[in-house]
Amino acid sequence: MSSRTISTADRPAVEELRAKVCALHAELLRWGLVTWTSGNVSGRVPGTDLLVIKPSGLSYEELTPESMVVTDLEGKLIEGDYAPSSDTGSHAYVYRHRPDVGGVVHTHSPYATAWAARGEAIPCAITAMGDEFGDDIPVGPFALIGGDDIGRGIVATLEGHRSPAVLMRSHGVFTIGKDPRAAVKAAVMCEDVARTVHFARQLGQVERLAQEHIDALYDRYQNVYGQRSAAVEGEI
Ligand SMILES: [Zn+2]
Repeated sequence: MSSRTISTADRPAVEELRAKVCALHAELLRWGLVTWTSGNVSGRVPGTDLLVIKPSGLSYEELTPESMVVTDLEGKLIEGDYAPSSDTGSHAYVYRHRPDVGGVVHTHSPYATAWAARGEAIPCAITAMGDEFGDDIPVGPFALIGGDDIGRGIVATLEGHRSPAVLMRSHGVFTIGKDPRAAVKAAVMCEDVARTVHFARQLGQVERLAQEHIDALYDRYQNVYGQRSAAVEGEI
């Protein structure tokens, strides 16, 4: 454990985020995105250089707000009874290089990971994809865990891209969001469209939507529908 401690001023935000990040892990299970202990959610503690992430090796049923781990943005343990997820370095890399990102999710959700195994982007062929992703869901490079390679691949692939989701080649999905809940939503929607477009392709050729339609869908959903839904949706 680091000698650094969490300041009294940051304590309420840390505790609130522990509870939120813990609860969001249940969403990964509920939507069928994870198996055994795979998958993880993290969140940036607002206004600090700290993040909260799932502990390594605990089953989803064992997770509690207290078992969540706090690290700095280098992935170094600051507070927690367990080691942080082995994916912490990749999450931390994203937070260091994307100040706009407040939440990161990683899963091996089966349909999206099948596209990742083929190294194939999911074409933006349905309106729900235009709304949510504004483009194809891109493929990032193959990278082994350990070091900065996965984080670098996520950041490089999503740089200047509308999609909040990337399929890391032969591995799985990483999503980003303004907060952990937005990143979880992107992970749920990514699996949903991966499945639908997969089914469509079993039936025949799949056509990408016209760019002008993708642009119109994305603009409407992000700027009109998005604000209304944010106001009425409950907070997790
Ligand atoms: Zn993984």
